[in-house]
Amino acid sequence: MERVALVTGANRGIGFEVCRQLGRRGYVVVLGSRDRERGEVAAARLRGEGLDVVGCQLDVADAASVESAVERMRREHGRLYAVVNNAAILYDTWAQARSADLDEVQRALDTNLFGAWRVTQALLPLLLRSPHPRVVNVSSEGGSLASMNGGTPAYSVSKAALNALTRLLAGELRGRRVLVNAVCPGWVATDMGGAGGRPISDGAAGIVWAVELPDDGPTSGFFCDGRAIAW
Ligand code: NAP
Repeated sequence: MERVALVTGANRGIGFEVCRQLGRRGYVVVLGSRDRERGEVAAARLRGEGLDVVGCQLDVADAASVESAVERMRREHGRLYAVVNNAAILYDTWAQARSADLDEVQRALDTNLFGAWRVTQALLPLLLRSPHPRVVNVSSEGGSLASMNGGTPAYSVSKAALNALTRLLAGELRGRRVLVNAVCPGWVATDMGGAGGRPISDGAAGIVWAVELPDDGPTSGFFCDGRAIAW
C-alpha cells in the first residue's frame, strides 16, 4: 500500500529536505508550498532525483487554501500516512516580550500554531483511514518552557503553544492509533537558522525519525535527534 506523506512549508529549507528523505524511503510525498510556482519547481527537482513527489499549493495560514489542498489529497490519494507540520515564520531575534509588537506575535501564531492546528484538523479524516497515522509538529527548543529566559517572543510563544497542541492531540488520539510528537531539528543552516548551523540533512533526519516510528513507538513526546528533550 502506498504511504503518502504531506510536508508543509516544503519548497525550501528543512521541509524540502524532509521531502527528499521521505521520498528516498519510498513515500509518495506531497510537497506543500504557499507559492504554487516555487512548490512546483521544488517538486520537479526531487522528481529529477527519481523520487515520487508532487507539489501542492498550501498556505497554512489560509483556511481556503488548506481546504482545497485537503480536497485534492482526498481525491488523489484517499488517505494519508503522515503529516509533517513544518511551515513557520518569524524567528524574532530583534524583539523582547516586554515591548513586542503584538500584531507580529499574532502573525507568528497564525502560521506556527493555527497553521499546524488547522492542517491537522482538516487532514484527520484522511489520517484515520491509514493504519498507522503519524503527526509530526516541527517545533523548537525555543518553545521549551524549561529553557525559556527572554527573547524571540513571537517565535517562542508560538512554539510553546505548538508543543501544548502536540500533547492535547496525542492524548485525544491515543486510542485511534495516531502517534503525535513534537520535534526540534536543532540549529540548522537554513534561511531561518542562518549560517553556522548544522547541515539541513541532519536536522531533517530527526523529523523523518518521528514519521517512521513503529506502532508501539512514543506519542506525546518532544524530541531532538530521536532523544527526548525537556518541555
Ligand atoms: P525556512 O528556511 O525559513 O523555511 C520556512 C518554510 O516555511 C518556507 O518554505 C516557507 O515558505 C514556509 N512557510 C512560511 N509560512 C508559510 C505558510 N503560511 N504556509 C505554508 N508555508 C509557509 O525555515 P527552516 O529553517 O527550514 O525551518 C523549518 C522548521 O524548523 C520551522 O518550523 C522552524 O521553526 C523549525 N526550526 C528551525 C530551526 C533552524 O535552526 N533552522 C531550529 C529550530 C526549529 P516561503 O518560501 O513561501 O516563505
